[in-house]
Amino acid sequence: MTEHASAEAETHTHFIHEIINGDLASGKHTTVITRFPPEPNGYLHIGHAKSICLNFGTAVKYGGRCHLRFDDTNPAKEEVEYVESIQEDIRWLGFDWGDHLYFASDYFQPLYDYAVSLIKQGKAYVDDLTPEQIREYRGNLKQPGKNSPFRERPIAENLDLFERMKNGEFDEGSRILRAKIDMASPNMNLRDPAIYRIKKAHHHRTGDTWNIYPMYDYAHGLSDAIEGITHSICTLEFEDHRPLYDWFLDNLDVPCHPQQIEFARLNLTQTIMSKRYFLRLVNEGHVSGWDDPRMPTLRGMRRRGYPAAALRTLCEKVGVAKSNSIVELAFLESCVRDQLNQTALRRMAVLDPIKLVITNYPEGQFETFEADNNPEDPEAGTRPVLFGRELYIERSDFMEVPPKKFFRLAPGQEVRLKHTYYVTCQEVVKDENGEIVELRCSYDPLSRGGGTEDGRKVRGTLHWVSAAHAQPAEVRLYEPLFPENPDSEKDFAEQLNPNSLKTIQAWVEPALAEGQPGDLFQFLRNGYFCMDADSEPGKPVFNRTIGLVDSWAKMQKNQGSPA
Ligand code: ATP
Ligand code: MG
Repeated sequence: MTEHASAEAETHTHFIHEIINGDLASGKHTTVITRFPPEPNGYLHIGHAKSICLNFGTAVKYGGRCHLRFDDTNPAKEEVEYVESIQEDIRWLGFDWGDHLYFASDYFQPLYDYAVSLIKQGKAYVDDLTPEQIREYRGNLKQPGKNSPFRERPIAENLDLFERMKNGEFDEGSRILRAKIDMASPNMNLRDPAIYRIKKAHHHRTGDTWNIYPMYDYAHGLSDAIEGITHSICTLEFEDHRPLYDWFLDNLDVPCHPQQIEFARLNLTQTIMSKRYFLRLVNEGHVSGWDDPRMPTLRGMRRRGYPAAALRTLCEKVGVAKSNSIVELAFLESCVRDQLNQTALRRMAVLDPIKLVITNYPEGQFETFEADNNPEDPEAGTRPVLFGRELYIERSDFMEVPPKKFFRLAPGQEVRLKHTYYVTCQEVVKDENGEIVELRCSYDPLSRGGGTEDGRKVRGTLHWVSAAHAQPAEVRLYEPLFPENPDSEKDFAEQLNPNSLKTIQAWVEPALAEGQPGDLFQFLRNGYFCMDADSEPGKPVFNRTIGLVDSWAKMQKNQGSPA
C-alpha cells in the first residue's frame, strides 16, 4: 500500500464499516479479509477503482488484507494480457495484495469435489434439457417454473454423468449440472441454477484439463469461503444472488461462511462503463485503443494525466451507498484539478500563437528570469526562462476592439508578461486578408520583475514563450466522448462527440521538451497537461488532462447574474 492510499483509507466510515465494526465487537471476526475479484476479460475502468478502493481500503483501515482473485471461470482467449494489465492498474492506483494473488481456476478441483458432494446429498442433478427447454421450464417473474424431467435422476446416475461431462464425453450444451433448489421460487436465481457447463475450451492456466467450467455464482462464494474471506463486498445487482450465495455455503462443508454485502456501483454522467462498449469503441476506431485518453479505463485516465490520488479521492468522497446514483463527471474533474494544482509543475506554452515584437528591446539580446515551478509548493524550486525581443503570446489574449473589463492586451493597453516586464501594444500588423500577424509593443525596462516605481497597476498578466527558444509540440485537446448523457435507447456511436479530440501545434518553453512521458504540468492559464508516450526526442506530445477554471468566462457569468 502506498503511504497516500493508506492515509486516505483511515478517514471515512459508512454502512459496510459499521457492519464490520459490529462483527469485530461481537467477536464474529477478529480480522478482516476482503477480495477484489475482476474477470480478466478487459481493462479496468473507473467503476472498478471504486470497488478496489473499497476492498483494499477496508483491509487497510482494519489492518486486515485484501486478496486479488481473478475470476477466470470463463475460458477466453486474451486473458493473460488482462491478468497483467489489471495487476499493473491496481498497483498504479496505490494498492497491493502482497502474497495474496489467487485465481478461481486454482480451485477447479475443490469446486468439482463440492459439486460431487451436492450430488451425493441429492442437491444437484445433471439435466439433459436443451438450453431452449431450460429457458422455457424456468418460467418468468409472473409464472413459476416447472421441474425438469431429469430432476429426480438417481444419485448414482448423476455422479456417473457428471464425471463423464468432466471427461469430455458429451458435447457442449448437451448437459448441465444444476442445483436442486426450487423451480417455483419467486427469486429466479433459485430456480435450479446451473452450476457447471460443458466448455471444451483451452484455459489460460489449466490448459485442456477441464471440459466443464463452474458458473460464476457457484464459484464465487465457494472461492470466498476457501480463502477465508470475511466480507464479500459486491455491487447491488448481486443482491438477488445473495440467497444463492448463502445456499451453496449452507449446503456444503466449507471452512467459513463469508457475508456478502452489496453497495451501489459508481456511475458517471457522460460516461458508459462496460467492456462490451469499450470493445466497440476500440474495434470501430472511435478511439486509438483501451488507453486512449478519452476512455474511462484506468489506463486511459492515467495516460490522460489523471493522478491516482485524484481517483482515490473521488471514490472516498462519493462514499459508499446502498442505492444507485450517478456522479457528475465535473466532480471527478474537480478532484483531478485539485490534485494537480498541488503537484503539477508550472510551465509556459502558447497553444494558438501570435507574434509579439518588443520594438524598444535590443535585437539579439536575451535575459534569463527565474520562474517558480509551483507557487503552491515552495520546494518545487525554480527554472530559468529566456526572454527576448520576439515572443509568442496567445491569440486570444489580444483584442483589437476590446469589450469593457478585457484586461489583456489591446491597442494602447499595458499588460504584464509573466515573470518579466510590462508591455504596451503600439501597433497591430495585419496580412492582406486582414488577419493579425504581429503585435508591435514597447516595454518598460523599469518594470523588470513585475512592478514600477510609480506604482502603476496593470490588470492582466499574460504567459508567453521566446520565439527564439520555443520548441514545437503537438498538443491533443480532449473533450468528453459524449457531449451529453448517453441515451441507452439509441446506438452510442451516433451520440459520440465529433470534437472529442483536436490536435494542434503549440510552442512550448524549452524545459517542457525535456520531460518524460507521464510528467504532469500546468501550462499557465491553459490547463493541466500530461506528456504522452507518443513523444519523441525533440517532438513532445502533450495531452490536455483538464482545463483550468476559466476566470474570464466565470467573470462574464458573474457579471450577468444578480449576485
Ligand atoms: P462486465 O462488463 O463483465 O459486467 P464487471 O464490470 O462486472 O464487468 P468484473 O471484472 O466482474 O467486471 O468486476 C470486478 C469487480 O468490480 C466486481 O466485484 C464488480 O462488482 C466491481 N465493479 C464493476 N463495475 C463497477 C462500478 N461501476 N462500480 C463499482 N464496482 C464495480
Ligand atoms: Mg462481472
